[in-house]
Amino acid sequence: MKATLAAPSSLTSLPYRTNSSFGSKSSLLFRSPSSSSSVSMTTTRGNVAVAAAATSTEALRKGIAEFYNETSGLWEEIWGDHMHHGFCDPDSSVQLSDSGHKEAQIRMIEESLRFAGVTDEEEEKKIKKVVDVGCGIGGSSRYLASKFGAECIGITLSPVQAKRANDLAAAQSLAHKASFQVADALDQPFEDGKFDLVWSMESGEHMPDKAKFVKELVRVAAPGGRIIIVTWCHRNLSAGEEALQPWEQNILDKICKTFYLPAWCSTDDYVNLLQSHSLQDIKCADWSENVAPFWPAVIRTALTWKGLVSRLRSGMKSIKGALTMPLMIEGYKKGVIKFGIITCQKPL
Ligand code: SAH
Repeated sequence: MKATLAAPSSLTSLPYRTNSSFGSKSSLLFRSPSSSSSVSMTTTRGNVAVAAAATSTEALRKGIAEFYNETSGLWEEIWGDHMHHGFCDPDSSVQLSDSGHKEAQIRMIEESLRFAGVTDEEEEKKIKKVVDVGCGIGGSSRYLASKFGAECIGITLSPVQAKRANDLAAAQSLAHKASFQVADALDQPFEDGKFDLVWSMESGEHMPDKAKFVKELVRVAAPGGRIIIVTWCHRNLSAGEEALQPWEQNILDKICKTFYLPAWCSTDDYVNLLQSHSLQDIKCADWSENVAPFWPAVIRTALTWKGLVSRLRSGMKSIKGALTMPLMIEGYKKGVIKFGIITCQKPL
């Protein structure tokens, strides 16, 4: 979750970081399902994009780490240890209060498991090892470790998050079940086929190479293991459409600048990538309506006394983050931003 966050100033001065760098398709290394080579999704500036990709990926990684190092404490102070959207009933008139918020976040975890087919004790018993890819401060891992009695390993780019996640696990007597380390989701330090559940809750949007991301998720999944990706996407393109409309891309570019995101993709893109790995039971859903109350609630929290004080203490970065929140609401309302879940199972 990126709600209270803004771009670290260290990246503001990098030359490639313009409206059309992290946030545009030109910077996305997208490995076509039908090909094994990396290609740019655009044609006009494709070569430039490929040449710049290695540098920009490294800078993005560094930026994400700094971004969460600096702001996770603020988020935790105000919103607790889950850094992701809550799940609400569509058309629910319930406003997300402080307490209702945590409940909705737990519901997001439960609904995601249910959607992926982890619906009964039989299925739950099969989950003995979990990897939490982009773990934040480990809220999902600790929840899943308690729920399944499973061994959970979380990875994040942020050393501050990894330390905080380990400290919280120790404080909750879960250190033997949940552990956290700094590692890159695109190059995971795990052997093939290790995990019965591969969990990525709102981290996919940070990945500059979605094909590599998916490949790694598939690689570390055990035969019969489930993969759950819950992530921000842009809308699916219609037949014949090659790109989003410029005004749509403009909204995403602005969000990328503040929240450290590379180019976005659609749920269709994820489905295509998963299909290229011959996975089973590939499913996706649009949960945008279920998360609709989230951003207004974050804005309300930001405007409370506690929120304002914390934000001022964190300085301009966090204020800039707050100013970007209405764009998320606009993106959802106009149908450009979709909150997607994509799940599948690795064949036995
Ligand atoms: N899943 C967590 C946190 C979501 S915030 C939760 O729901 O609470 C996004 C997380 O993704 C951060 O922890 C960030 O460090 C992590 N992340 C982003 N890019 C990553 C990468 N390439 N490798 C590992 N973690 C990454």
